[in-house]
Amino acid sequence: MKALTLTAYNQFEFQDAPDPVLEDNEVLIRVKACGICGSDIHGMDGSSGRRIPPIIMGHEAAGEIAQTGSAVEGWAEGDRVTFDSTVYCGKCESCQSGQINLCPERNVLGVSCDDYRRHGAFAEYVKVPEHILCAIPDSVSYEHAAFAEPVSIALHGVNRVPLKEGDSAVVIGAGLIGLLVVQALKAKGAGTVIAVDLDEKRLALALELGADAALVSGDDVPQRVREIVGNPDGADVSLEVVGFGPTIQLAIDSVRKGGSIGCVGNLKAEVPFPLQAVVTRELSVYGSCASAGEYGDAVEAVASGAIQVEPLISATADLADGGEWFAKLHKNEEGLMKVILKP
Ligand SMILES: [Zn+2]
Ligand SMILES: [Zn+2]
Repeated sequence: MKALTLTAYNQFEFQDAPDPVLEDNEVLIRVKACGICGSDIHGMDGSSGRRIPPIIMGHEAAGEIAQTGSAVEGWAEGDRVTFDSTVYCGKCESCQSGQINLCPERNVLGVSCDDYRRHGAFAEYVKVPEHILCAIPDSVSYEHAAFAEPVSIALHGVNRVPLKEGDSAVVIGAGLIGLLVVQALKAKGAGTVIAVDLDEKRLALALELGADAALVSGDDVPQRVREIVGNPDGADVSLEVVGFGPTIQLAIDSVRKGGSIGCVGNLKAEVPFPLQAVVTRELSVYGSCASAGEYGDAVEAVASGAIQVEPLISATADLADGGEWFAKLHKNEEGLMKVILKP
């Protein structure tokens, strides 16, 4: 089969790769669409250490089943599917309790690190175990279904924080995941939702996608938040979707006493932490990793339009031209959001 392989850091070849060989519990998927993720960009240049070449990346995909392993039941050739990016064991304590994202056996499609190498979906075919499959309705295009993975991350981030109907929320970072988080909050019944970013174009998109207010990131954000939500103490929750010092500080400074902060972004391994504010204001901080069972809900949210993804697609391109699109995204000059590659 043809595949887009990262052959060395910052170097791609669109070339022949070995056809995947199916285990009994796996299905072969003819890939129809696969989105380029921010983590692929941070991987291609070696900065994350999670895409050690050679690797076929790609974990945000959808396609149709081309072949099923001998033990696969309930799925057939031609079925339209998407799949979780995380392969989990299903047997350990974490998996049994529904926290599949915390499975010690967890590995991610399109990732190669010191522990494992698992090829992903920037290829004509990809194989996945049947237990991570999710059917997609005929009304949802493959391009939109490829968003199930990032949408599930946004849903999980919102599910991690206590949120009551009408609660106010601040979203720090209006990149792709942030814009999905804004919509996930609204879909779950949040009241006033405020998006914060440095980029005016992203803020305009946040407003278009349902945010009630948009603020340019700066020192006055916590004060502006208090005015907008009408509480002199701050918003009920904040979701931090960047992951570095100043934005964590903003997320913490924007919530009321007893409020909650969901941490989705993790650009930096370590950040300064305003301990006293968290202790004396009795704030709760929640980490949020990937998703844990939100996949079906993600597909449903895309299908119903509760979460809109079309405005987030910057380009759809041939997989053969993938290397150029990776380079463009790496330079990050054009404010591109999601680029989807099609074999
Ligand atoms: Zn991703
Ligand atoms: Zn497990």
